[in-house]
Amino acid sequence: MLTPAVSEDLSQLVHLEASDPADGSQASSDNRRLFGLDAEALAARMVAAGEPAWRGRQLAEALYRQRITELDAITTLPKILRQRLAAEGWHVGRSAIAQVFQSVDGTERYLVQCPDGYGLTVETVWMPEGDDGESGDGSNAEILQSQGTPSLTPQDANLLTRDSRAAGANSLHLFETSRQKATLCISSQVGCAVNCRFCLTAKLGFQRNLTAGEIAGQVIAVFDRHAVEVGRDRVNLVFMGMGEPFLNYDNFMGAVRLLIREVGLSPQRMTVSTSGIVPGIKRFAAEPPEFRPKLAISLNAPNDAIRSEIMPINRKWPIESIVAAVRPIKLRPRERITFEYVLLDSVTDRPKDAQEVARLVRRTGLPAKVNLIAWNPGPGIHYSTPLPEAVEAFRKVLIDAGIPTYLRKPRGRDIYAACGQLKRTVEG
Ligand code: SF4
Repeated sequence: MLTPAVSEDLSQLVHLEASDPADGSQASSDNRRLFGLDAEALAARMVAAGEPAWRGRQLAEALYRQRITELDAITTLPKILRQRLAAEGWHVGRSAIAQVFQSVDGTERYLVQCPDGYGLTVETVWMPEGDDGESGDGSNAEILQSQGTPSLTPQDANLLTRDSRAAGANSLHLFETSRQKATLCISSQVGCAVNCRFCLTAKLGFQRNLTAGEIAGQVIAVFDRHAVEVGRDRVNLVFMGMGEPFLNYDNFMGAVRLLIREVGLSPQRMTVSTSGIVPGIKRFAAEPPEFRPKLAISLNAPNDAIRSEIMPINRKWPIESIVAAVRPIKLRPRERITFEYVLLDSVTDRPKDAQEVARLVRRTGLPAKVNLIAWNPGPGIHYSTPLPEAVEAFRKVLIDAGIPTYLRKPRGRDIYAACGQLKRTVEG
């Protein structure tokens, strides 16, 4: 029997699944935005404008590789064509960073302006050196490191050759230290309908889905700010910002395909986290490996009773149904499913909870790891951060049970950038 509050939560979710336009068309009536279209769609636009299809590839190169934000600056297109497109209302329309908050630990939180004309912003977080969230999940970098072999793409090899000529035998070392390593946390919706009780984003409620272009636009805007060079820098993307990506499935996967095909990123450097939207997980399981990011399940509780209290969505899709949906996913060699686990003082961090989580994870039979997150406080949320001793004891129980377990570093707590704190807070 559901409490009235939970019934409300679930009816909102049912409503979302039934009526959300998959293409994000509710976001804006602006259909002359180029950013968000892939090379094929851009080619179709060019053909419709009486131009050869290969102009579409030029446009894709300009938008996603050269990161050009103004149509008039795309000089690979003839001036007369640029003028004609502009006169017809075509424009780049990429998301832009509107505000930056900097943490003492180097983390940056951005309010990113959606190009929808309604002034809506979403949050994106840049964590130099990451937060250890990808440890042990089969990320490419880690595989190569564990084999003692540096990761070299063809572009790397060219750079290395150039460095070698200039700097001699030690150039590999010099070259490697010049790389950036970071994790970028991206939003998929404005607000969120899932209403996890420990999460500040939930306080916003659901406002709207982001389009594929708005999701990918966050990545390109931040890459621009940090002069990220794809193929040289190691940036992991985590779809763990505002929103539930699997309640905006088509646009989320549209962004993933754009980032892979047009930007040149690897799906093995992307992780999507879900609160357990079973229909979304089933669709995800059927995605081809070349377009499938890694999966994290936001578990957060040792059993259905506690999970339903802190995540009402669990009443619709309990733990066993989530595990059953995850099982068919064909994992890559060394890939693991991540179980994210937020530790709430005296609610989910007790020794008996740790033992139950260990049994649960083992029972799934999945190649899995656990990421522990000490809860990050937020105004108006009545939980407490666990004691460091409780966190360590919890971790030890899981490790002793043979489960790879990592503690995610809290990043950017002072600027409300840490996990579960994203609510468009405008104070630094
Ligand atoms: S934790 Fe994620 S799914 Fe849950 S309310 Fe917050 S943003 Fe939504």
